[in-house]
Amino acid sequence: MALSRILRSSTNLSATSLIANQLTRICRSFASTSSTSSLAASSDYYDVIVVGGGLVGNAMACNFGLNSSFKEKKLLLLEAGGTRSLGSPSKLYSNRVSAVSPSSKRLFQKLGIWDRLEAYRVKSVRQLQVMDSCSQSAIHFERQSFQSEVAWIIENDAMIGALFDKLASDCSKNVTVKSKARLKSCSLPADTSELAQVVLEDGSVFETKLIIGADGAKSKVREAMEIGYTGWEYGQKAIVATLQVSGGADNEVAWQRFTPFGPVAILPLSANLSSLQRFTPFGPVAILPLSANLSSLVWTTSPDKCDQLLALNEDEFVDQLNEALWSEETQDSFVNKALFTVDSMLSTVLPATSVVQLPPTITGLQSDSRAAFPLGFGHAHTYVKPRAALIGDAAHRVHPLAGQGVNLGWGDVQELIEVLQKVVRSGGDLGSMTSLAEYDSRRQMRNVPTMVAIDWLNRLYGTNFAPVVMARSLGLYGVNRFGALKNLIMDRASA
Ligand SMILES: Cc1cc2nc3c(=O)[nH]c(=O)nc-3n(C[C@H](O)[C@H](O)[C@H](O)COP(=O)(O)OP(=O)(O)OC[C@H]3O[C@@H](n4cnc5c(N)ncnc54)[C@H](O)[C@@H]3O)c2cc1C
Repeated sequence: MALSRILRSSTNLSATSLIANQLTRICRSFASTSSTSSLAASSDYYDVIVVGGGLVGNAMACNFGLNSSFKEKKLLLLEAGGTRSLGSPSKLYSNRVSAVSPSSKRLFQKLGIWDRLEAYRVKSVRQLQVMDSCSQSAIHFERQSFQSEVAWIIENDAMIGALFDKLASDCSKNVTVKSKARLKSCSLPADTSELAQVVLEDGSVFETKLIIGADGAKSKVREAMEIGYTGWEYGQKAIVATLQVSGGADNEVAWQRFTPFGPVAILPLSANLSSLQRFTPFGPVAILPLSANLSSLVWTTSPDKCDQLLALNEDEFVDQLNEALWSEETQDSFVNKALFTVDSMLSTVLPATSVVQLPPTITGLQSDSRAAFPLGFGHAHTYVKPRAALIGDAAHRVHPLAGQGVNLGWGDVQELIEVLQKVVRSGGDLGSMTSLAEYDSRRQMRNVPTMVAIDWLNRLYGTNFAPVVMARSLGLYGVNRFGALKNLIMDRASA
């Protein structure tokens, strides 16, 4: 293959390019029918190429590198940016964090990075409280068993660092990481009789049996696949920031208040340990950790309001945030009366639900921690084509209100690995549609209902039109009142 490329690049003579094409075809058909013996020896061939070393692409490469089924296979991970290492925790928290679900935690345990992340810093969330700014309806999620978490809040940089470290320490035999390597284009054959090819911006060319697009919402791999894609912008932006909060000693409740502009979420980052005291024979010593009492903000609002909020000084911003969390201005008294009546009637036959808690008060803002991101929806009609598969945001993009985006992406990783493992065991072709179609149908079945539900939630709460407020308030009240339904939703969200 290298010879064919030399021939192709050395001259434009048609006879020579004919020979070169012929040679390429022979090499390719050999590649797709034989084991990788000769191709694997070539420096520009990899069995799998993952484009994008973000939260999802890195997890894919790690899962592949640690799985003994793939020990004879070579994977190349291409990342346009740089790599990073976990290191020791910085004094300041990053403003980009994710709520990690129990099944994603299990993936991290399998990949052997969970303990390192915990030793770095991970904040467990034991309760989730969702409120409506237009009525008193609220829902409270909490696992039944004592000390059981709903989710964990972890900084994105920490997870990416831990995954890169794992790739370097335990996967280097069959995984090559190439940073500052931006994909320029890729070409995909119509079937598996030929290999797929990727071209980087620096001119390097690689061939592979399977390109995995993990290059985010604006995926170039998806573009090359020429598949249908449904997407729209929400006309909303999410402001992220690191906050100082008052409230419970353990700071273990995640809060979300829906407003007509969009939801405001406060995710715990560190416990309120400021009251920690050690008693010594000489008197009590207060231990004041630098990062006590912090939470992370995801505040969805209109682009105009977002610009105004970012232009405010820190104190003004905090005031506006407390207003968004606490204001009763948009409360609908008629809906509240209806809720009260229904609750009084049901209380005679059903046990009372847990008491609704009040959100924390925001007391400060970490300097320079504010940033904003446009929000949108996107879904590839299929995640696969011969020699290509999409994972993570390249395949699906959701509103962050349910904290599901990257968790769905890690679900893709687990499912794709399972399918590829079966292919290797049966001696099949990693890029063949027979196996990739299974990945596609399994993930579409899981992702589409979740994506639709998230989209509907955003629409349902994006209005203060009285009949809609009434319907959603009674609906939320009902779900909160009937434990079985609530548990079903919680299990579904954490699966
Ligand atoms: C405000 C906000 C809060 C969120 N909170 C949560 C949450 O709590 N829980 C949750 O589950 N999800 C959350 N999400 C969603 C989550 O952040 C995304 O789903 C996740 O980042 C997607 O990861 P990814 O690796 O698929 O894509 P990306 O993070 O976009 O990574 C793509 C990678 O590909 C690289 N790349 C791109 N183009 C190329 C190229 N041409 N060549 C080579 N490399 C390339 C990029 O450099 C990048 O490293 C949130 C999103 C937002 C905006």
